[in-house]
Amino acid sequence: MKINIIGGGPAGMYFAILMKKADPAHEITVYERNGPDDTFGWGVVFSGKTLANLRAADEESHAEITRAFAAWDNVDVVHGLEKISIHGNSFSGIARLQLLKILQRRCEQLGVRLLFRTEVPDLDSLRINCELLVAADGVNSTARKQYSKHFLPTLDLRPNRYIWYGTNRLFHGLTLTFRENEAGVFAAHSYKFNQTTSTFIIECDQETWKTAGFATMGDDETRAYLEKVFAPDLDGQPLLSNNSKWINFLLVKNEHWFFENVVMIGDALHTAHFSIGSGTKLALEDAIALFDCLRKTGTVAGALRQFESTRKPVIEEYQAAAFESMRWFENARDYMPLSPIELAYSLMSRSGRIGDDDLRRRDPEFIARYERR
Ligand SMILES: Cc1cc2nc3c(=O)[nH]c(=O)nc-3n(C[C@H](O)[C@H](O)[C@H](O)COP(=O)(O)OP(=O)(O)OC[C@H]3O[C@@H](n4cnc5c(N)ncnc54)[C@H](O)[C@@H]3O)c2cc1C
Repeated sequence: MKINIIGGGPAGMYFAILMKKADPAHEITVYERNGPDDTFGWGVVFSGKTLANLRAADEESHAEITRAFAAWDNVDVVHGLEKISIHGNSFSGIARLQLLKILQRRCEQLGVRLLFRTEVPDLDSLRINCELLVAADGVNSTARKQYSKHFLPTLDLRPNRYIWYGTNRLFHGLTLTFRENEAGVFAAHSYKFNQTTSTFIIECDQETWKTAGFATMGDDETRAYLEKVFAPDLDGQPLLSNNSKWINFLLVKNEHWFFENVVMIGDALHTAHFSIGSGTKLALEDAIALFDCLRKTGTVAGALRQFESTRKPVIEEYQAAAFESMRWFENARDYMPLSPIELAYSLMSRSGRIGDDDLRRRDPEFIARYERR
């Protein structure tokens, strides 16, 4: 089969790997606008369950990914002078660039054609010269725009602002830190993803952002301001920028997932708020799901229909949980009067996916302390 893929992110490359591994006769080309070493951001997070899915799908890349991992089992909530640790939450972090390098090497090993620095401005010509066109072209997908009348997307730009930094201060665990100043409330989502670096994402509401005056601040001034806000947490380490900019989270959904022989996967198709840390997981699992549908049905038309009907309910459930989590952070200032233990409990149960019984199983000490409060 001839397959064209737009986007050499996790979704596009992983799908290429699975297809080429299953049948080396497939002719697969990945078109990627960036070079092999360009990337945005710092580290990404996976749960233990995602790793099991990756192992079942491709042992070779799973082995490399887990070798490069920083793993932990605690969520830490920092509020005022107190840090509350909640154990029993198995997660691992990896640098996004390192993950992409592992997938690039695996593609090359299997014979997938990777065309870097190749922008696809128009999909029609690519679509007609292949049997399957996979649009894995990320949150600002060209495919979604070009075929919007078929896909019927809804795009919801959320009010909070966030900025994605790194730091050499190591956070051993998924750490959620809340700091207040005269402008308002700031939340940091941080976690170590290798031996020297942590991701440090800072989020605040619109009012805080305006009052702080970020609209007229340059990059260095913004960083200096935020280093001051999080001075108690950074241990004197600076925030590291990777052309970091303030952005608003874009919530993406699509009524239809495919059109003729074009299908979307990953962030092009759906997004889930980064506070439940599952964008890359969903992208990779989309690739596995689409691959499975092709294997089972044996036809492109049948596979795309099955992909939409079986995968959509799974994604909708995730997006519903991520929505609750996102709303919690949008309303973070309302939770600031809570005591640290109450705040930690509220955070752990925010998505509606983790109840008291789960918490009791994961960390009986924590739930006992909450009940004694
Ligand atoms: C602040 C923040 C924190 C996050 N934290 C986490 C986390 O902790 N854990 C997690 O799992 N995920 C996280 N994510 C999400 C994660 O980064 C994405 O969900 C994931 O990368 C989606 O993979 P993808 O392959 O669908 O898209 P992308 O990784 O965006 O890849 C799309 C690729 O397509 C290319 N492209 C686009 N258009 C074209 C074109 N026309 N022609 C050629 N190439 C094109 C782009 O250059 C890009 O390389 C976070 C995201 C943000 C913003």
